[in-house]
Amino acid sequence: MPTVRTRFAPSPTGSLHLGNLRIAIFNHLLARHHEGQFVLRIEDTDLERNVEGALEGILADLRWAGLEWDEGPDVGGSHGPYRQSARGNSHRLAALRLEAAGRAYRCFCTDEEVAAARTGDTPGPECPGRCRSLGSGEIRARTEAGPPPVLRFAVPDDTVSFRDEVRGDIHWEGRDIGDFVILRSDERATYNFAVVVDDIAMEISHVIRGAGHLSNTPKQALLFDALEAPRPVFAHLPTVLGPDGRKLSKREGAPGVRELAGEGYHPDGVVNYLSLLGWSPGDDREILSRRELVALMDLDRVGASDTIFDPEKLRWASAQHIAAMPLEALVDAVASRVDRSRYPLSDEELPKAVDAIRTRLTTFGEVNQHLALLFPEPETLATGHAELAEEEAAEVTLRAVRQHLEEVEDWDPETLSGVVREAGKSAGARGRALFHPVRLALTGARQGPDLGQVLAGIGPRRAAQRLTRALNRITG
Ligand code: GLU
Repeated sequence: MPTVRTRFAPSPTGSLHLGNLRIAIFNHLLARHHEGQFVLRIEDTDLERNVEGALEGILADLRWAGLEWDEGPDVGGSHGPYRQSARGNSHRLAALRLEAAGRAYRCFCTDEEVAAARTGDTPGPECPGRCRSLGSGEIRARTEAGPPPVLRFAVPDDTVSFRDEVRGDIHWEGRDIGDFVILRSDERATYNFAVVVDDIAMEISHVIRGAGHLSNTPKQALLFDALEAPRPVFAHLPTVLGPDGRKLSKREGAPGVRELAGEGYHPDGVVNYLSLLGWSPGDDREILSRRELVALMDLDRVGASDTIFDPEKLRWASAQHIAAMPLEALVDAVASRVDRSRYPLSDEELPKAVDAIRTRLTTFGEVNQHLALLFPEPETLATGHAELAEEEAAEVTLRAVRQHLEEVEDWDPETLSGVVREAGKSAGARGRALFHPVRLALTGARQGPDLGQVLAGIGPRRAAQRLTRALNRITG
């Protein structure tokens, strides 16, 4: 197979939302699968719609998701080769070539004339006049008289057929397309034209994008043919619907990549989940590493039907990827988020505390909320201890636990769970009668992580202090 070159072509009109990110993911994974290249092209020709800072945001979002591009904007420099706006000359030259070959013509109709001629069943804002058949003398005269014309592509009447890897063969009638503008009167290329000229120049082999672009594809297929370039493989991914059944879009409140990064979703979980919207690895696996995704991705298993975005599933995928992290990496990922004023943990204490709560984390951002289970506010602890004061039997149990703990050398969760049970045995308490008072004494709560985890997470000094304080409250 010739080199696979895919591209992600966002417009810098705002930050990326999950729908766009999914498109980038498919392009990235397919390129990696075939050891090809993933190209980033910023489609910034629509100057009025460009948003300040959006480009930097898009680059940051892609980096966060681990979707590094092989070619693309020269980050830091102001004019990388893959900013569409910097390629105006190539667009104009290609348009002139089409005009010279009789495949495009100057249209002098004004916007008002075009709008006035538009009826319900015209395919688009077509040329309402005879511009397609003007003679060269008239063209020259009208060009000189101004205002400047637009350039329209002369769409042949025949059927346009193209193959979509997801949907199969698709046919459009030329008359349903209409002669569309390729160069505006200020000589800027329109979207359909710029995309094709750039895809040819960048030797893109696969155009993978959302189903919303399906109706642009016949125009683009015609342009590839007219420019005598081979058409790329087209694949239009199924539409993603929000939980309310409406198309997922920023306007409808699709989560932004920036927000998910801010909340601390595991990027691999996000990439994993989004790659399954419309594609399947061929079995029922739902949690896949990057490496597995790269190994398995192909267009054959992309389905055509709409898929539904499930925020709960996304969270679950993030949790699964967090659970699979080595402790050290997890500590690195959460360290900067830990509220140090509330949890003044030393470098040695933090990993133990994180280990105790790790199975509860669905995002890195939840770290403080779960650390509160180990390091409750003084009032929470005091309330728990007050409850204990009502339970006479607790005293014997807590004394036994405190004493047994003094002898523990390996302060790890399994050993500690065993020690608590041993202590319970010596005090004649087991099951709830054992765990309930110990938990209340240590955390002030009735529920929480396994007691061995709690003890390992808070360490011997705090454990002894809390048990002593609880005992003091019981004995008044
Ligand atoms: N710039 C287009 C968009 O943001 C993508 C064009 C394409 O993939 O062909 O929707």
